[in-house]
Amino acid sequence: MNHLSRRDFLQVTAGAGAFASLMPPPAGHGAGPMWQPPAVGAGWFDKPMRWVQLTLVENDPGSFDPQFWLDYFRRLHADAATLSAGGIVAYYPTDVPLHHRSEWLGTSDPFGTLVAGCRTMGMHVVARTDPHAVRDDVHAAHPDWISHNADGQARRHWANPELWVTCALGPYNFELMDQVHREIVTKYKIDGIFSNRWAQQGGDCYCANCQKNFKDATGMELPKTTDRSDPARRAFVAWRKTRLTDLWKKWDATVRAANPDASFIPNGPPDLKTAGELAAIQFTDNQARRGVTPPWNNGRRAKEYRSVMGRRPIGGIFSVGLEEAYRWKDSVQSEPEIRLWVAEGTANGMRPWVTKFSGVLYDRRWLPVVERIYDWHYAHERYLRNEMPLARVAVLHSEQTAAEHPGVAQGDRHEDHMLGMYHSLIESRIPFELVHEAFLTPDRLDRFKLLILADAAALSDAQCGAIKDYVNRGGSLLATFSSSLYDEQGRRRGDFGLADLFGVSFDGKVEGPMQNSYLSLDADTASGARHPVLQGLEGTPRIINGAFRLAVRPTVDFPSPVTLIPTYPDLPMEDVYPRVKHTTTRELYLREIGKSRVAYIPWDIDRTLWDVMCVDHLRLLRNTIEWATNEPAPAIVSGPGVIDVTVWRQRDSMTVHLVNLTNPMMMKGPLREVIPVGSQQLTVRLPEGTRPRKVQLLTAGKSVDFKTTGQAITLTVPSIDVHEVVAIDL
Ligand SMILES: [Zn+2]
Repeated sequence: MNHLSRRDFLQVTAGAGAFASLMPPPAGHGAGPMWQPPAVGAGWFDKPMRWVQLTLVENDPGSFDPQFWLDYFRRLHADAATLSAGGIVAYYPTDVPLHHRSEWLGTSDPFGTLVAGCRTMGMHVVARTDPHAVRDDVHAAHPDWISHNADGQARRHWANPELWVTCALGPYNFELMDQVHREIVTKYKIDGIFSNRWAQQGGDCYCANCQKNFKDATGMELPKTTDRSDPARRAFVAWRKTRLTDLWKKWDATVRAANPDASFIPNGPPDLKTAGELAAIQFTDNQARRGVTPPWNNGRRAKEYRSVMGRRPIGGIFSVGLEEAYRWKDSVQSEPEIRLWVAEGTANGMRPWVTKFSGVLYDRRWLPVVERIYDWHYAHERYLRNEMPLARVAVLHSEQTAAEHPGVAQGDRHEDHMLGMYHSLIESRIPFELVHEAFLTPDRLDRFKLLILADAAALSDAQCGAIKDYVNRGGSLLATFSSSLYDEQGRRRGDFGLADLFGVSFDGKVEGPMQNSYLSLDADTASGARHPVLQGLEGTPRIINGAFRLAVRPTVDFPSPVTLIPTYPDLPMEDVYPRVKHTTTRELYLREIGKSRVAYIPWDIDRTLWDVMCVDHLRLLRNTIEWATNEPAPAIVSGPGVIDVTVWRQRDSMTVHLVNLTNPMMMKGPLREVIPVGSQQLTVRLPEGTRPRKVQLLTAGKSVDFKTTGQAITLTVPSIDVHEVVAIDL
């Protein structure tokens, strides 16, 4: 991954806001009072639909054929390119001292050649720089530009020991790279600068500049540990984010001074909130899946970015190779894997951006694959220029919880709750979005009927207040486990911040990991009927429990559809019988408040689902989501398989994307083959005041019969190989 690792990202993110008020303005390197964020929707950024990136290697000049790439860009119908320009290696005749020209450059200007070729095709061009490493001459001239370890040693590059790692937060970036960016934009009038690995690489920096700047800003010495309870660590995380944000603003001001229509685009923002505040465009650097990752992870990144970017464009960077820890950068991935990964991004609103390292190709198998993907995209562009998602369910994306809340006990991990909830929504075929904790405003929240808190543990009082207001305005809420039990710094509250909404209070006890505990599925004592959330579970009086539960106490009256069967011995087999057959301890709290429905689940249904994938948990969770939403989904898709369903509005149309995830390699790629899934029946709700004029299947390439009933249409999609789009002209 060519950006902050997930861990770095969280570290950079952590403490955002919490310490901001303690921070004096940074000395020296700020962007100055003239800097203003770009207006949303301004400029060229929303125009390109298909991106390409060519990252040159140092010996490419003279060896690679620029015309081959330009011809390929043309065949891809690409309308924007990101091209290697400078940083570690300059691919143009730079005049900035210590900016290393490629040893193979001679008198050539491969960057300029590619820029000119792209311009003649009407493409937008962004220059790629990478500031994270330098050579011996720079180290000799400016030892103060080099990152230092905690023991005071200058830091060699971990992958190429001939290089030195630069300090990201000192004069190398604020001064030298600032000159480089000015030179590139001035010389070539390009549309932007995209910097790779612009945050600190290789570990925290302890150079003299960082020591001094941190002390000037906070009065503290740099932290020697990563212990988050250390005040110096917390201050450092906040300071680092502030410095990076200042660097972003400074580079952006420099770029815009040289070309008012251009912008600085970081590869990976300091945190998503900052991206929401500063960026005209963003790219997710999630190039392929690795390890045990479901394909929906690409769509998930799109949703995360959209939770702060809203309508602004998001590009999905994908590579054509394997993205594993061994980093075979010149490799080529299987065609079905590339197709599915890109389809997940497209279905979730990202614009494709193919990235390739090295202008000289060894393995060319990917070329026609990407060409076919881009051809399809180009042919259907008008149905892919989305105005807004039509999902009615949203899950809170809490970067704060990810950073501040490790879990309630050993074995509990916040991210597993999110992953389980995400997977359950995919399997349940419920279109959904993410909303970000920093933007819980009515304009962002009120288009959703249901907000889900998947163990959103760390919430501030203000965030709890915004959620209460949303419910008071008629929104519904589903919360699991320790949601709102901690404040924004991860300190446990005496009671849930949302106790009033849940109608329960925390009783002070966390139980788990539990062995051999169950849930009793109970009929209403008066009517004898079971609650609708138990639909599909008629055949059994009980299902398995999760692994962790919070002891809670109801403060209002509740129905009692699901109750606790406490843990009992699981060995020896002679002893495996419940000591208590039935309790009145509810494990699901359902209430109606005006037009709102509120469901609170005091155990880890989402985490355990991710852990053991129990179908009964999936059923109960899906039913509870549907009960709380209390309206039909915008698209109901029935038929075999696992399908990611997303629903979008364009100016004159709406689309339903169906991505076929059904594959034995779904949870661990790469895919070997495409396995088409059979007939799907769709019911699609049309936006109020619209009528369907024409319905097409974009991949099958044909119109389809449909039946109109009220404000809904029904139709059949006969088969999906990787990705089908139902496009409805309105
Ligand atoms: Zn430093």
